[in-house]
Amino acid sequence: MKRIRCPKCENYLLFDETKYSEGQSLVFVCEHCGKQFSIRLGKTKMRAPQKEERPDEEEFKDAFGSITVIENVFGFKQVLPLQEGDNVIGRRCVGTNINTPIETSDMSMDRRHCIINVKRNKQGKLVYT
Ligand SMILES: [Zn+2]
Repeated sequence: MKRIRCPKCENYLLFDETKYSEGQSLVFVCEHCGKQFSIRLGKTKMRAPQKEERPDEEEFKDAFGSITVIENVFGFKQVLPLQEGDNVIGRRCVGTNINTPIETSDMSMDRRHCIINVKRNKQGKLVYT
């Protein structure tokens, strides 16, 4: 299965790319907002999943660590790297300016949910608040 993002509301739609051939144009109707849009299957879209779709906590263990969003009916697993200072975490939404956005269709998640602060203490150890 592949996912594409609705250009209007930015929610993800799933489709089975194996049912279609390369170069074929597909029309989708977004189940969230009703927007109709089309994509063309090309070589670039049929490649192996991007790194983004195979998140790995190991990748960030040498930096400031990461938070893992557990996959559920509202969204895919995501691994979001943390940075030094305030990490403002919330639901990704157009117009909300936060530095750790989570892709989800769960409207009960706040757009600004919480802040994790990362800093080093005098011993050089990372402190998470
Ligand atoms: Zn939409």
